[in-house]
Amino acid sequence: MPHALSPLSMPKRTLLGPGPSEVDPRVLQAMATPLVGHLDPEFLTVMGEVQSLLRTVFQTRNEWTLAVPGTGTAAMEAAVGNLVELGDRVLACVQGYFGERLAQMAARYGAEVDRLEHPWGQVFEPATIIEALSKSSYKIVTLVHAETSTGALQPAIAEIAQGCHQAGALLVLDCVTSLGGLELKIDEWGVDVAYSAGQKCLSGPSGLSPLTVSPSARQIIEGRPMPPPVFYFDLVELNRYWGDSPAYHHTAPISTMYGLREALRLVIEEGLPARFQRHQLNARLLWDGLEALGLEMFVPEKRRVPVLTTVRVPSGHDEARLRRRLLTEHNIEIAGGFGPLAGQIWRIGLMGHSSSRSNVELLLAALKSMLN
Ligand SMILES: *Cc1c(COP(=O)(O)O)cnc(C)c1O
Repeated sequence: MPHALSPLSMPKRTLLGPGPSEVDPRVLQAMATPLVGHLDPEFLTVMGEVQSLLRTVFQTRNEWTLAVPGTGTAAMEAAVGNLVELGDRVLACVQGYFGERLAQMAARYGAEVDRLEHPWGQVFEPATIIEALSKSSYKIVTLVHAETSTGALQPAIAEIAQGCHQAGALLVLDCVTSLGGLELKIDEWGVDVAYSAGQKCLSGPSGLSPLTVSPSARQIIEGRPMPPPVFYFDLVELNRYWGDSPAYHHTAPISTMYGLREALRLVIEEGLPARFQRHQLNARLLWDGLEALGLEMFVPEKRRVPVLTTVRVPSGHDEARLRRRLLTEHNIEIAGGFGPLAGQIWRIGLMGHSSSRSNVELLLAALKSMLN
C-alpha cells in the first residue's frame, strides 16, 4: 500500500510570468461552489452569463462567442481547425513563437501555408501584409496581437483586417495575452476569429478559453462540406451546447466555469478603460524601475506589450540561476526567453490581478538585491 499523502499544500507565489496570473480570492471561492450537472438549467444559466460577459470583454456582438474547453492552445486549435479545409491557402504572419505555432497548426490541418516572417521582437506594417495578400490568394491570415514570446504588440489591427477583407481573406487573431489587459475591439476592428485564455489578463483559471467568431467566418464554418477533423473542437457542436438548444457534446469543466464567471465579473466591475489604464500605469512603473536598475528593455517603447515586459539579462549573469533564486528566495515567478531569445531575456508579466504597484515594487526590490 502506498502511504497516505498529506493534504495539498502549495507555496504562495507572486506570479509575474506569462501566465498563469494571480487570481482574486473571489475566483477561488467561486470554484469551491457545489457542482451541478453540465445540463442542469442552473448551469446553462451560468454559461449564458459567461457568454454575455465574454461579448462585453471582446467588445463584440458575435453570436458565436463562447469558452472552449482547454487552455489557449485549445482555442487556437478550434479557430484554425474549423476554418482550415484541406488545401486551403493560409498566410501566417510570424514574428515570434505563437505566430510560428499558428503556422504549424494550420499546416497540420492540411493548409498550404505561406509564412510572412519578421525577426522575433518586430511587428508587421499593414502594408507588408497587404502586399503579400496582393501577390496571391489566401483564405485565412493568422496574426498574434500581443506576442508573449517577445513582448511586442502588433498595432493597426483594424487596417490589417480591412486589407484582409479586401483581398477576400479572413483574419484570425491570437488575443491570448491581450484580452482583458489591452484595448481590443473585435467588431470595430473587423477581426473574424479571435481567441484567448482564462489565465492571462482575465485572471481566471486555466482550462476554459474564450473564442469569438464573426458572422462571415461562421458562415464559412457552417458551409464546410466536411465537418472539422477534431470532434472536440467542432464549433457547430460547441455552439449548439452554448446556444438556444443545449445538448450534450462534452462535459463542461463545471468549477472552471464558475471561476471564469467570477473573473469576468471582476473585469466588468473594474471597467475595461480603468483596467487597461491600471495595466498601463503598472507597466510604466516597472519599465522605469528596471531602467533605474541599469537594465535594458528588449522592445522599443512604442511597440511594447504593457502586460508582458521583456528585458535583457545583464551580461555576466546566469539568467536561469537568477530566476531560480527569485522563485526560491523571494517566491516570485518570472519566465526566461525561449527559441532565439533563450538565455537573453526575462519575461515579466503584469497580467490581471498580478498587475499591482505592490507586485512591481516587490519584484524591483528582489532584483535589486540579487543584481548587487
Ligand atoms: C499563452 C499563449 C498561448 C497558449 O495558451 P496556453 O493556455 O498556454 O495553451 C497562445 N498564444 C499566446 C500569445 C499566448 O501567450
